[in-house]
Amino acid sequence: MDGGRIIKVSGPLVVADNMGDARMYDMVKVSDARLMGEIIELRGDQASIQVYEETGGLGPGEPVYTTGEPLSVELGPGLIEAIFDGVQRPLDVIREQVGDYITRGVEVSPLNRERKWDFVPKVKEGDKVQGGDILGSVQETTLVEHRIMVPPDLSAGKIKEIKSGEATVTDTVARIETDNGEVEVNMLQRWPIRKGRPYKEKMGPHIPMITGQRIIDTFFPVAKGGTACIPGPFGSGKTVTQHQLAKWADAEIVVYIGCGERGNEMTDVLMEFPELKDPKSGEPLMKRTVLIANTSNMPVAAREASIYTGITIAEYFRDMGYSVALMADSTSRWAEALREMSGRLEEMPGEEGYPAYLGSRLADFYERSGRTICLSSEEREGALTLVGAVSPPGGDLSEPVSQGTLRIVKVFWGLDASLAYRRHFPAINWLLSYSLYLDNVAVYFRDTIGEQWNEMRREAMRLLQEESELEEIVRLVGIDALSARERLILETAKSLREDFLHQNAMHDIDTYSSLQKQFSMLDIILMYHHEAGAVVEKAEIDLDLEKMFALPVRERIARVRYMPEDKLDDVENIKREIKEQVASLAGEGGDEDA
Ligand code: ADP
Repeated sequence: MDGGRIIKVSGPLVVADNMGDARMYDMVKVSDARLMGEIIELRGDQASIQVYEETGGLGPGEPVYTTGEPLSVELGPGLIEAIFDGVQRPLDVIREQVGDYITRGVEVSPLNRERKWDFVPKVKEGDKVQGGDILGSVQETTLVEHRIMVPPDLSAGKIKEIKSGEATVTDTVARIETDNGEVEVNMLQRWPIRKGRPYKEKMGPHIPMITGQRIIDTFFPVAKGGTACIPGPFGSGKTVTQHQLAKWADAEIVVYIGCGERGNEMTDVLMEFPELKDPKSGEPLMKRTVLIANTSNMPVAAREASIYTGITIAEYFRDMGYSVALMADSTSRWAEALREMSGRLEEMPGEEGYPAYLGSRLADFYERSGRTICLSSEEREGALTLVGAVSPPGGDLSEPVSQGTLRIVKVFWGLDASLAYRRHFPAINWLLSYSLYLDNVAVYFRDTIGEQWNEMRREAMRLLQEESELEEIVRLVGIDALSARERLILETAKSLREDFLHQNAMHDIDTYSSLQKQFSMLDIILMYHHEAGAVVEKAEIDLDLEKMFALPVRERIARVRYMPEDKLDDVENIKREIKEQVASLAGEGGDEDA
């Protein structure tokens, strides 16, 4: 039977007829160069194919081969530390084989077939197992134990044989007797990227993903298994924030998808990421990271696939019982790829040329996040947290990708060009940002940090809001119009901004704050506010506010951010100094300052 034939080529889109056998989302090989493609529309026996490689030189009449399989990823040992492109071709291996520019039609297995892994069994002969059960593990890197699971779609059975020791990903490690006969299981699973991997149950997220970034953890926390977005104009700190999260978030596995920023930016990530160190272990961060990169010389279509490739890999580690964080930088580039394909398909354009299904595609993606009970006969919990950067042109959040994302995600870290311009980093605007997980994680904070945490956070936020209102008044009628109490609010809010919210990612100590440290910092800033406030309430009109604001202890408060975690005991001394120094002012004429 003769197969499909190309009838039209339009950039990354190829239309072929005689494709009656094919199904939607099947992977195909286009022309004798065997370029990788995926069917994204079927009409009668005509298929529209999104091609993941350069289509220059292709023409009508050339053959198209169906594979009968949907576009899938390979899952197994070897994922960690790898750098893949959007359709899971191993970029590092390809570069070794053919140089910097990927030549067309190179077929390289995503996972290394030769490499031997030391398989340590966890089950024994005669054990009953079902889909998702852990058969054993291999130490994939110093930081990651890769758990080998029974494929999710396998029916329950009994272990007939289980191996131990060296094996490649394709070697059989277990034989399972099922109702439908005996099945040989190896360490390699394939999974279609557009279909979420199964789990037993999804649960409400209630544990925060601690990032060590004060504005995030304290004010706008994301829950493990939750969703967040960081929209912001160019230069406002999306990349630095994503790197900070990749470095510090308490996730066991990080999947980082670079959707191809313009020009060389992606190459920067490729260069930079392998240099980053995991701060907790001192090991390279790559030892718990999977990197998906779309370099700028790759066709747009590969970008479209990349977020699905990434999230399928992330789900696989979630299924092992890990807490996984996925970062996509940026989803705007992904949406542009979607728009380009839609245009070539001559679909009816929606807002700003994006297809009408942009919103539902975004929702489908973010819906794959969650805290889940894994498919398994044992109790196992995994979490997949999604953080998407959005780069709206000109920073205008009313555009469709930002709007579509904001409708779905529960946390919004709004980066602000004017803060970045004033070099207030992270430039997350505290008046616009929000987290809808505050109620979910309140109990966690109460139990781990203390009863006061939630109240302190509320009070600090209220002060920051009052500051912005007072600033308006100052702009109109000047600072003299404010009461002493109001001036104190401005002073405390300034301290909150400069001593707490501001956090230098480049500073060895300031780059990460434990929850305990965040609590201590808030505690002393608010303590100063209360102590000073009590004096202001009682004081006569001639209280010297300038002196109150310039108390030596204020410099001590400001420097806590640079205090190592093991020196935090000193905070008790600072508290004492606050009391003493404020009291000395209250007793006016007191000659305490020295
Ligand atoms: P974007 O990805 O949004 O274009 P970047 O993340 O590259 O922006 O940030 C631009 C610059 O802002 C960085 O090179 C850095 O100098 C500064 N910056 C951003 N965030 C921080 C931070 N948390 N601490 C210190 N500097 C920062």
